[in-house]
Amino acid sequence: MTQDVDKLNRCIHMLVAANRILANEGVVDAYGHVSIRHPFEPNQYLISRSLSPELVTAEDIYAFHLDGSPVVANTPTPYLERFIHGSIYKKRPDIHAVVHSHADDVLPFTIAREPLRPVINTASDMGLEVPLWDIHDHFGDTNLLVTNPDQGDDLAQGLGDHKVILMRGHGFSAAGKNLVEVVKVAIYMPKNAKILMNALRLGPVKGLTPGEIEIRSKVDPKSPQMWRAWEFWCSKAGIAAGSKEDL
Ligand SMILES: [Zn+2]
Repeated sequence: MTQDVDKLNRCIHMLVAANRILANEGVVDAYGHVSIRHPFEPNQYLISRSLSPELVTAEDIYAFHLDGSPVVANTPTPYLERFIHGSIYKKRPDIHAVVHSHADDVLPFTIAREPLRPVINTASDMGLEVPLWDIHDHFGDTNLLVTNPDQGDDLAQGLGDHKVILMRGHGFSAAGKNLVEVVKVAIYMPKNAKILMNALRLGPVKGLTPGEIEIRSKVDPKSPQMWRAWEFWCSKAGIAAGSKEDL
């Protein structure tokens, strides 16, 4: 039991680190969030209370059921858009970490016809095609935020087997087998979007081929090269990297 508590605390540290990394890398600002599936309760997830990711500490992390209801009664005000996380965990048993972001560089591709596609090697994780979810399709005029389980489930349906989904006029959500995988795609997808946008000004663009994406998809998210990136991002963000086993 003590071991379980220690493990849970180590996983919470990694989630705090992911919050700091994403803030430091400009993927999230006052808004946006990151969660992990609970390491011992697969039908729960861990996420900060409503707080900007840069400010999150271990004391701010709370557990939620997949329908977005808090596990403990005295949970402080939660994120309005937490339903994104629970619905993706419900739909995708293979997913253990989720990021939601409003990164500026991605937004043009949520409202224009030009598809967002991987054009740099580090962004291959986003997959050959990135689906676009338009909340207006099924819910009409809203504030564009995912504020209930039905909207979360519709988004998760749109995600399907992909790792990332764009959200019209809003941002994106990304899903990963572990924290480092989802943090990596959340960092490199906006970079890829910025580079693609610049390249399109020069003329036609050649993106990664399906074969190149397939080859790169074989990288183990727990491999030394992924851990190297995690250590780098943690160092930049000024937080301890923790242990690879806890990602
Ligand atoms: Zn949002």
